[in-house]
Amino acid sequence: MTSPLYGQMMEVPLLASSLLSHASRHFGDNEIVSRRIEGDIHRYTYRDCEKRAKQLAQALSALGVEQGERIATLAWNGYRHLECYYGISGMGAVCHTINPRLFPDQIAFIIDHADDAYVFFDMTFGPLVEIVAPQCPNVKGWIALGDAACIEEQLSSNTSVPMMSYETLIGAHDGDYEWPMLDERQASFLCYTSGTTGNPKGALYSHRSTVLHAYGAALPDAMGASSSDAILPVVPMFHVNAWGIPHAAPLVGAKLVFPGKDLDGKSLYELMETEGVTYSAGVPTVWMGLLNHMKQHDARFSTLKRTVIGGSACPPAMLRIFEEDYGVQVIHAWGMTEMSPLGTLSRLSFRQKQRPLDAQRHSLEKQGHAIFGVDMKVVGDDGRELPWDGKSFGDLYVRGPWVIDRYFRRDDSPLVDGWFPTGDVATIDQDGFMQITDRSKDVIKSGGEWISSIDLENIAVSHPQVAEAACIACAHPKWTERPLIVAVLKPDATLTREELLAHFEGKVAKWWIPDDVVFADELPHTATGKLQKVRLREQYREYVLPGAAENSV
Ligand code: AMP
Repeated sequence: MTSPLYGQMMEVPLLASSLLSHASRHFGDNEIVSRRIEGDIHRYTYRDCEKRAKQLAQALSALGVEQGERIATLAWNGYRHLECYYGISGMGAVCHTINPRLFPDQIAFIIDHADDAYVFFDMTFGPLVEIVAPQCPNVKGWIALGDAACIEEQLSSNTSVPMMSYETLIGAHDGDYEWPMLDERQASFLCYTSGTTGNPKGALYSHRSTVLHAYGAALPDAMGASSSDAILPVVPMFHVNAWGIPHAAPLVGAKLVFPGKDLDGKSLYELMETEGVTYSAGVPTVWMGLLNHMKQHDARFSTLKRTVIGGSACPPAMLRIFEEDYGVQVIHAWGMTEMSPLGTLSRLSFRQKQRPLDAQRHSLEKQGHAIFGVDMKVVGDDGRELPWDGKSFGDLYVRGPWVIDRYFRRDDSPLVDGWFPTGDVATIDQDGFMQITDRSKDVIKSGGEWISSIDLENIAVSHPQVAEAACIACAHPKWTERPLIVAVLKPDATLTREELLAHFEGKVAKWWIPDDVVFADELPHTATGKLQKVRLREQYREYVLPGAAENSV
């Protein structure tokens, strides 16, 4: 007799490959449409996608790739990138998505730290690969996501980088392949975040966390996804797995529409209209471009019903314009790389919907309610949990099965009593709605991407005429935040704003260069000599950066 202690259900592991297999088997004819780097529109089905992902898995096995090995991608949102997601993770290797917007040295650091065996890249990143590859001697091969002809066209003829063509690589295999039955705790995806101090850190997801997160993301009170949706993720697949959409869409069999590299308002609008997109997701900066396009051309959405806005706080004006002028529901979402990323989403409960419209809007502007799979609390300076009164603010902590318990290849645990400190400062109200009020981590988020204030301060103080410098986030209507340098000069210095800004050139990516410099007589410090960034941020709260005024929604 079997013990009644355990349930008697099948032990089927939760695997990323099962998401694609499900879509291929049960929604085999549903489409995946991509605007390609080549410029045309590519369309095929989930069935075609799984076959090619299996061809890739066979090709990786033939190259000798082993389970647990990291295989990187540097690519836009497109069907070949989706094949990499599933071909790599499905065969047991780890799909490591890299953000191509980082400075080449950071990319090289990440590739080296992850010990990536191969790197797949879109042809647009050919020039970047030519810079990075010589710094990554352990990479065995660089695989261009195109055919052999495009490698010859796009890359300089004298490159010494070992290149392969993706189409040639997978073309040698037939797709007759069974996904291996992995242990669901094995690693599936790896994403580095630069939203912490010091070097970028890796969040290593498991198959189990990937699938659980996909279930969570698809819930109606989360991002919500259905087989009747056509979903266009604007959020890049190199940023926290495009918030899980490439996993949640096959889970429900939704049509997927990939925008490739063209993320301007006109390109997005046209693709949404021609492909009947019902739902989309992205950072506020992208939606600014789309809304400006709509206004200039007096355009209307014929199919778009809702959009998830997150990555940075959604401006209340943007929420109102989407809903009142275009009839598009906005779902304000909060999360982070360390959380796969979904944490909270603002969707109203039955009870909240009975309240006056103003009260409903006020709730919707917050970052929202935790979804099942995430627990959260705010903690005061004394380490004690604060009440859920919508007023008491403190450090936001989270825990759950898709939250990291340590960073990749680091022994120290970031957890405090089993909770992950997010570095965000927040309140939680009586409805359980969380609102971000500030950030304790020393980074700036511009257009959804991180800028290290510490790196910029180090560069500023490396100028021989600078005595001390602080870099703070300054509000910007288009980019949400931009860096501002507050510098104290050495006695008798003659340095100008322009000279100090010129000092950053070539040392960081162009979009990291601060928007402005102000010179001060002194900076605020604590009794122990620590720079008081909070006070500085308060002092420059109303500061208008050059060019900011012309960019409001
Ligand atoms: P990342 O790991 O790059 O996705 O960044 C996560 C961080 O972005 C969070 O810890 C927040 O600081 C910020 N963030 C994400 N979503 C929001 C939001 N809706 N409102 C305010 N900040 C956000």
